[in-house]
Amino acid sequence: MELTSKGYCIGGQQVEKIAEEFGLPLYLYDAQKIVGQYNRLLKSFPNTNIKIKYAAKSLTNLSILSLLKNEGAGLDVVSIEEAKLGLIAGFKPEDILFTPNCVAFEEVEEGVKLGITLNIDNISILEHFGDKYGNTVPCCIRINPHISAGGHSKIQVGHIDSKFGISIFQLPHIKRVVKANDIKVRGLHMHSGSDILDSEVFIRAAQVLFDVAREFQDLEVIDLGSGFKVAYQENDVTTNVEDLGKKLGKVFEAFCKEYGKELELWFEPGKFITSEAGCLLVKTNVIKQTPSAVFVGVDSGMNHLLRPMMYDAYHDIVNISNPKGTQRIYTVVGYICETDTFGWDRKLNEVREGDILAIKNAGSYGFSMSSNYNSRLKPAEVLVVNNQAKLIRKRETIEDLTRNQINIF
Ligand SMILES: *Cc1c(COP(=O)(O)O)cnc(C)c1O
Repeated sequence: MELTSKGYCIGGQQVEKIAEEFGLPLYLYDAQKIVGQYNRLLKSFPNTNIKIKYAAKSLTNLSILSLLKNEGAGLDVVSIEEAKLGLIAGFKPEDILFTPNCVAFEEVEEGVKLGITLNIDNISILEHFGDKYGNTVPCCIRINPHISAGGHSKIQVGHIDSKFGISIFQLPHIKRVVKANDIKVRGLHMHSGSDILDSEVFIRAAQVLFDVAREFQDLEVIDLGSGFKVAYQENDVTTNVEDLGKKLGKVFEAFCKEYGKELELWFEPGKFITSEAGCLLVKTNVIKQTPSAVFVGVDSGMNHLLRPMMYDAYHDIVNISNPKGTQRIYTVVGYICETDTFGWDRKLNEVREGDILAIKNAGSYGFSMSSNYNSRLKPAEVLVVNNQAKLIRKRETIEDLTRNQINIF
């Protein structure tokens, strides 16, 4: 989204006009930005056999999945339902990696039936898996290297208390289970959380995974997960993927040489691909002055965008309707009967009742984490592609709320 002489625009289209056409609240995405981020990451590793498995959970709309599939991406899914969405969107089973955690073995079996690759994240499942499939179904193993990625504690998953992955300290046990059941380990995986600050941490983590890889003979893949950081506010430190490509590319090539085989390097970015490409457009219902603040109450809340409340995430907010107005200090809050604050003490161009605000970085973990709390309907989703705004999900109606309910009285 950029501020032009015609006001805020996405792909040449005026955001205000889009809001008028499709109504509010509205999730609005920019296809060009999504595709651009995907290709930017690809191009950062020119000499590496790199594959990008887009993390579906960040934004699962079928049009977004198909858009990335058409670019050549694979898919990382964390539930059998996401896997099925991927297949519906046109991904081939072999391009889907399924990284579940704490699921029943039946779900793993269903994944195998669909023909997708399982990424196994605990020894109990690995034992069951080997027992059932032996060397007939290759799999990946998710290792927890215990490298802290920094950032918010709720999005770090590599620490010692984390439920994710098989601890690197259990490597001897993994090897026993693999050997006893003759399991074909196709790849090793790690995902240290969603906020890795710099290339050095990534490389340190990769080195740890290479150490594990030396213990396995038939690998085809090293999967370094995600952790790519994007800017949520001005001056945020972001992952310099070009720098990462240069440094990690070299280290990876050296490892492949030592291993004696050109391995594939996989990444599973979600946020990096979709975060900045999306915003949540909301309408100002009321301006409410209290003894402590000027609240801007909007027609949305934690039901549509949970990150500010769940992770204390900072999401930049701009006033689309009054880009030239005098800047004043506001606290932007939702309409849910909970404390659902989008942002405290934000400098916005003067907000008037009826003004449209855009909450930025809402492409990832926005719609996909939304709910019907307070029996509110979910917003529509619109994708701007080739300079055209296209509806990719209808706004919910009251029928959507009652569809599966059975009133027995
Ligand atoms: C959530 C997740 C990702 C994506 O993380 P981002 O921070 O959105 O890039 C990748 N891999 C796995 C296994 C995940 O659970």
